[in-house]
Amino acid sequence: MPRRSASPGHSPPRQGRSARRPAGQGRRADIRRTAVRRVQRLLLLIIALAVAASVWSLWQMARDGQGPLWLALIFGPPQTLTDRSIGIVAGHSGNDSGAVCPDGLTEAAVNQAVAEAVVQALRRRGAAVDLLQEFDGRLRGYRGDAFVSIHADSCQVELSGFKVASLAGGSRASSQLAACLWDRYTFATGLKPHPDTITYDMRGYHAFREIAADTPAAIIEIGFLKADRELLTQRQEQVVAGIVTGIECFLQR
Ligand SMILES: [Zn+2]
Repeated sequence: MPRRSASPGHSPPRQGRSARRPAGQGRRADIRRTAVRRVQRLLLLIIALAVAASVWSLWQMARDGQGPLWLALIFGPPQTLTDRSIGIVAGHSGNDSGAVCPDGLTEAAVNQAVAEAVVQALRRRGAAVDLLQEFDGRLRGYRGDAFVSIHADSCQVELSGFKVASLAGGSRASSQLAACLWDRYTFATGLKPHPDTITYDMRGYHAFREIAADTPAAIIEIGFLKADRELLTQRQEQVVAGIVTGIECFLQR
């Protein structure tokens, strides 16, 4: 409804606030209220921008693997392996059972479970990963930033420990990958190294000679199926963490 034009002296007294205050004061109060609302809106915008900037920088830190652990819980694992290509062999898969325990637990089953979890963890960090079988057709000339074959040791002996090997007389990069796995696997699992039982089969591992010579490669025996069974079957996340952080250590060096 159009407002009637003010005609001082003739119009009846208006109801409400304006009835108690002259029109000039009411206008000033309106202007003040509008100004306060604008300042409030501006402050809210500044706060929202500050929160967004903080979240963005925390996300960046989480992606880069920096900052406290809770960041990774909120934002997911750090994207430390973006654009990296990695080959993981599940030892004996597609070929044979490997070592077998009296109760039927096989090395191949343990290797497969660990390898699959390692592949998932590496992919969550941004890497392109191939899960390979023991005599996979893709091994010939395989190119990648890292190549790791996962095996476990005998169920017949009382020995405990893990070991890592790279090709005898192989590249410096392969030795560095092996060194990273030695270091990080010990840290993640608490398992002791057992270098005395490294065999020619490990140093001369068939896949080392099939893949491209410039692909850094190592083989890890993650523990003995008998003495280290609890780690290999009940604390597999530590086994996986040891291998994943070992590969990360090598690729971020
Ligand atoms: Zn094996």
